[in-house]
Amino acid sequence: MSSNTRTSLKQSSERFNHISSSPEDKLDKRLFESDRLVQISSLLHTTLDVTQIIELFAQEIKTYVRFDSISYEFDKQNIKMKLGRNNQYKRSYQLNIDEQILGDITFSRRIDFEKRETKEIESLLKGLVYPLRNALMYQQALHDVHKDPLTGVKNRGAFNETIKREIEIARRHGSSLSMIVLDIDYFKKINDTFGHSVGDCILKKLAICTSQSIRGTDLLFRYGGEEFVVLLPNTDDKGAYRLAQRIRRKIEKSDCDCDGRIIKLTVSAGVACLGEKENAHDLFVKADTALYAAKADGRNIVNIYN
Ligand code: GH3
Ligand code: MG
Ligand code: MG
Repeated sequence: MSSNTRTSLKQSSERFNHISSSPEDKLDKRLFESDRLVQISSLLHTTLDVTQIIELFAQEIKTYVRFDSISYEFDKQNIKMKLGRNNQYKRSYQLNIDEQILGDITFSRRIDFEKRETKEIESLLKGLVYPLRNALMYQQALHDVHKDPLTGVKNRGAFNETIKREIEIARRHGSSLSMIVLDIDYFKKINDTFGHSVGDCILKKLAICTSQSIRGTDLLFRYGGEEFVVLLPNTDDKGAYRLAQRIRRKIEKSDCDCDGRIIKLTVSAGVACLGEKENAHDLFVKADTALYAAKADGRNIVNIYN
């Protein structure tokens, strides 16, 4: 096996045959391994935190194989962690159960792994896959609870949690926090004219268009219906106003292609900045009041709360 071998670790894999001298030895060894795997797996099943699972696994297997670093990556859930310091010789495995991919794990150390040690790692990994799969599914479920199923952006529940946290951070650092409330103009008419599936398509396009206009640190939520909120940490109302205008112009210029129909739409926006002693509700009311004024002024307008 080369130093960078990537092995698919399926539970039923024939890769895990072990060398043994006699049938009795073979049986003893199997019983020992099976006990050991049950023990590791039970320990790892005590948590649903992926980082903790990898840490516990690293602790456990140190008794059997020496290594300098262990790293785990799962792109799909943006997980990337490393324990210890990387070294020259590596063993990498893609973990999976049947067709379900669970990420990549890599062991490294200064001295190359012996064949016996590589087999040992492969055997021990069998105790990791099921607890890891359960933890990943749990994390995914937590994530989905905060996601709007239609547009894929964060939902109102996520907004309620995030805004409290962002206000705390802004207070602690003495930084500004702004909010934009965006609302599609005459959306009811669009629905009535073209039907709900076109309306849904427009909501998806608006979410994409807005998320492409904001920075990585800005946070976009579907607040409800055809109303979206952007939270802008470290941004005052002037900066938020400029961004809201950019989004408004971009939408005004876009042709929304929904089921082959080209739909023109506009949005109005209200902008506000968190003031001293204000809470999440106060900030939202200010931005929403500014939005209401933008609607009253004729729509396709951005308005700052003053
Ligand atoms: P205004 O310019 O004042 O904002 O008028 P409007 O028509 O956009 O606002 P109104 O609040 O009267 O209508 C909002 C419409 O949004 C009514 C509702 O049916 C529609 N809507 C809310 N959620 C969804 C959704 O998920 N999909 C679709 N297709 N329509 C939705
Ligand atoms: Mg509207
Ligand atoms: Mg509305």
